[in-house]
Amino acid sequence: MHWSIGKVKITKVVELETIGSTRFILPLASKEEIQKLPWLFPHFATEEGRLKMSIHSLVVETPKRRIVVDTGLGNDKQGRGIPTWNDRNGPFLQTLTDAGFPPDSIDTVLCTHLHVDHVGWNTKLVDGKWVPTFPNARYLFGKTEYEHWRDHSDEPYQAAVFHDSVKPIMDAGRAELIASDAQLTDEIRMIPTPGHSPGHMSLHITSDGEEGLLTGDVAHHPCQMAHLDWSSTADSDPQQSAATRRQLFSRFADRPVLVIGGHFDAGHIKRQGEAFKYVALA
Ligand SMILES: [Zn+2]
Repeated sequence: MHWSIGKVKITKVVELETIGSTRFILPLASKEEIQKLPWLFPHFATEEGRLKMSIHSLVVETPKRRIVVDTGLGNDKQGRGIPTWNDRNGPFLQTLTDAGFPPDSIDTVLCTHLHVDHVGWNTKLVDGKWVPTFPNARYLFGKTEYEHWRDHSDEPYQAAVFHDSVKPIMDAGRAELIASDAQLTDEIRMIPTPGHSPGHMSLHITSDGEEGLLTGDVAHHPCQMAHLDWSSTADSDPQQSAATRRQLFSRFADRPVLVIGGHFDAGHIKRQGEAFKYVALA
């Protein structure tokens, strides 16, 4: 699936799609509450009120760069908190290659934040060693985000993620730490969107008068646009996360801005009463 913003092309490459089983991440999004939001159907929820989500990468092509935004779960990883995320043997790199993006053609990898489902394919296991999956890319991590996890990966699950998917990139000299409001290319500027994690960033894309916004995990699911206070269990600061949602969605609502989430598809944000709704692109 792909979209255009002026001269910038965005392609979604899916690693994993899920329906339901999201209670652990968004405990307030009960089936009953979801069924009260008719605009979620059929794109973002089933009729029974189960949430549709995905783990995907977004390949962003500008006239000069080929950027992978977020890198999913990866294969062969160990020590993950969710058992099915261990020892994965998925075809993601083949899917990426089939979509026209062999790993060696990627010149930039950007992680919106450094959680388990956004950094996995930064590395792959070769002869027992974690090496950069994208051999010709420079990897961009938010400085605030990187320093936080470097100094606070005490919890074993997060330590595993840092050591197999982030640190090897640093050790290989392929990482570059960027400010949360960095200008990445002529078309792409980062927006600091803390709350889900301390240094979480979103991408604002402008080209030929058109606009796009890649929100990462500012929201895990569009239902959080109607309920800004529905924070995810993975949010490091739930209050900040809700404030960031209000601020970001207010800025981009009711404008022809193409929005794509870290775990949901493209749409437009519209104001609805005190909060927002999300209209899928057909
Ligand atoms: Zn995520």
